[in-house]
Amino acid sequence: MTQTHASTDSSALRPDDVLAAARQQVLVDGRGLDETQVLAVLRLGDDRLSELLQLGHEVRMRWCGPEVEVEGIVSVKTGGCPEDCHFCSQSGLFPSPVRAAWLDIPSLVAAAEETAATGATEFCIVAAVRGPDQRLMGQMREGVAAIKAAVDINVAASLGMLTQEQVDSLASMGVHRYNHNLETARSHFPDVVTTHTWEERWDTCRMVRVAGMELCCGGIVGMGETLEQRAEFAAQLGALEPDEVPLNFLNPRPGTPFGEYPVIETADALRTIAAFRLALPRTILRYAGGREIALGDLGTEQGLLGGINAVIVGNYLTTLGRSPEEDLELLRDLQMPIKALSATL
Ligand code: SF4
Repeated sequence: MTQTHASTDSSALRPDDVLAAARQQVLVDGRGLDETQVLAVLRLGDDRLSELLQLGHEVRMRWCGPEVEVEGIVSVKTGGCPEDCHFCSQSGLFPSPVRAAWLDIPSLVAAAEETAATGATEFCIVAAVRGPDQRLMGQMREGVAAIKAAVDINVAASLGMLTQEQVDSLASMGVHRYNHNLETARSHFPDVVTTHTWEERWDTCRMVRVAGMELCCGGIVGMGETLEQRAEFAAQLGALEPDEVPLNFLNPRPGTPFGEYPVIETADALRTIAAFRLALPRTILRYAGGREIALGDLGTEQGLLGGINAVIVGNYLTTLGRSPEEDLELLRDLQMPIKALSATL
């Protein structure tokens, strides 16, 4: 739990030096912070938070631009998962109140149409499974074809761990991006999941990249990891170089082993956003689950001005997100244009 990978003692560094070095290296030179540097950023006090967020925002504007990517998600199979990820109410191993359910193809197409109507460019099909079986792969083939025939939107998928054959098959269907999270630092993973390993997740991510699909890979903060482990996680994501990183904050779900964990403090959540942006200057850094409880409305806006450049519209998987209108209005207020579909092809 207290394993530290950062090589120098970042607690000895002066905050002014930490921020000045980050400004030069990331903003000017375009090189992400390493693990030790991320840890130094995570250790900055609340009195430096607004400066840090400002730097995160400048980095995002310089290396990604003002556009915000909007994505919708739909769950084709909810609940009843055989894995034991301790944060997840879709595990069938805990008494959490999410029932197993499947979605049919017409409903899938309708969800894609609704998502496209919000201006979103990505539509991600998600299933709560260890990995897809033949039935799910068949449903994907049919579903992706039906969506492509009906709606002009990129299709992404999140179906758990894949074999090489399944990676190739999804790529051949035209799945544009695959989401598979590392979830947390390698050293913390055994405290979070026992039914599969971090390395198995890493392998799927590598195969997705090699097959030419975009990789969406992130995780959850606030799961009892130390700051050292949070920095380790940012560095491991940096090594993987995902196209997109969904950043979730633990929303403790009743009935799960992490159901009693405290919600991350807003200042910590914002510091984490900026630190991840400084570790990953060019990635799409997306708000995923838990931001309502970790950040509230004010913090949501601060995060969008601190390095975040993508949002999910509408529902998250097992908890209600904000309405699409609220998010789209906020983006208009902040004068952040929604990324157009043509720009992503
Ligand atoms: S996070 Fe995914 S693999 Fe883990 S229990 Fe939830 S649905 Fe299953």
